[in-house]
Amino acid sequence: MSTLRTPSDLTDLPDALRSIFTGIRGKVTPDYPLASRTWFRVGGNAEIYFQPVDTDDLRQVIQRLNGTWPVTLLGACSNIIVRDGGIPGITIRLGRGFSQITREDNSLIVGAAALDVTVAETAALENFAGLEFLSGIPGSIGGAVRMNAGAYGAELSDVIGWAEIMTSSGEICRLGVNDLGLSYRTSRLPADAIVLRVCLHGTPGQKEHISARIAEIKASRENSQPVRARTGGSTFRNPPAEISSLKAWQLIDAAGCRGLQIGGAQVSEKHCNFLINTGSATATDLETLGETVKSRVYQQSGIELHWEIRRYGVPSPVSEVRS
Ligand SMILES: Cc1cc2nc3c(=O)[nH]c(=O)nc-3n(C[C@H](O)[C@H](O)[C@H](O)COP(=O)(O)OP(=O)(O)OC[C@H]3O[C@@H](n4cnc5c(N)ncnc54)[C@H](O)[C@@H]3O)c2cc1C
Repeated sequence: MSTLRTPSDLTDLPDALRSIFTGIRGKVTPDYPLASRTWFRVGGNAEIYFQPVDTDDLRQVIQRLNGTWPVTLLGACSNIIVRDGGIPGITIRLGRGFSQITREDNSLIVGAAALDVTVAETAALENFAGLEFLSGIPGSIGGAVRMNAGAYGAELSDVIGWAEIMTSSGEICRLGVNDLGLSYRTSRLPADAIVLRVCLHGTPGQKEHISARIAEIKASRENSQPVRARTGGSTFRNPPAEISSLKAWQLIDAAGCRGLQIGGAQVSEKHCNFLINTGSATATDLETLGETVKSRVYQQSGIELHWEIRRYGVPSPVSEVRS
């Protein structure tokens, strides 16, 4: 596995990128294996993987790139499939410099790389109620904004005050909840916007009650979801109520797909809207299984499911695509 390198060693970078990363303090690595970074543990390499140390580092790279290379942003990779051929262009993952959590009156100011569970636990320590639902979502706050993550009757749109984002020109701006256009597991955030930090609102609470609710959520998840498996969470969105009163998992179950297997990919027996990598799955196995489920559900019910999981990259190695 290639190790992350500081940009003092830029010899392996394509010529066109050397000037972009000169003087940058973060780590940049060509041909970086992504599989171990993802919850599914599948997928190819990032053509160029970049971990900025802070906002300034990120801004310099984004400004110098000026839209010339495709940029893909990864969070905790708990809702994505990276395809087997890897991700062309620059793949960015925000690191420790973006994970600060600070308290301001009845708000938490949270960096985009902070994990949802850390935010929930920090809120409990601060006697700050209302963010318990985040404890069961295994992503980062940046991913939670993009996906409007939610569980147990609450979602990010209920608690977010604003999000600070970086645009593709490196400009930083603050978007209020209406500008974010958050709705069921999606947002109107421009595809190339990078969430840097957010303000989350809560209400005064008691640590013991908040921690008890977090424990309750954890137990409930253990019972209903394959939380220890290599998975990507809910594969498909639930159809809108006007289209079906059944949830995605019920439609999948009714179509006889519970436990269905293609290669090393399987529809979870425990929660059939979850796909799992049983150990030897490729991204192609998982995607083919998902498409098979979609088509069986359509044949059985006439309802078209839509992927909630985001899929990135190309089926064949980037080097083959470029040659
Ligand atoms: C076991 C399990 C249980 C789950 N349960 C739930 C649940 O109950 N509720 C729920 O909503 N989800 C659930 N999920 C799905 C997932 O955890 C959420 O969608 C989460 O918000 C994704 O965050 P992430 O950081 O992992 O994002 P990733 O999976 O890395 O990326 C998802 C999307 O967010 C974008 N993104 C990530 N960071 C940023 C950023 N800083 N700025 C802009 N865009 C960004 C990515 O580009 C991508 O488009 C579950 C997943 C698993 C594996």
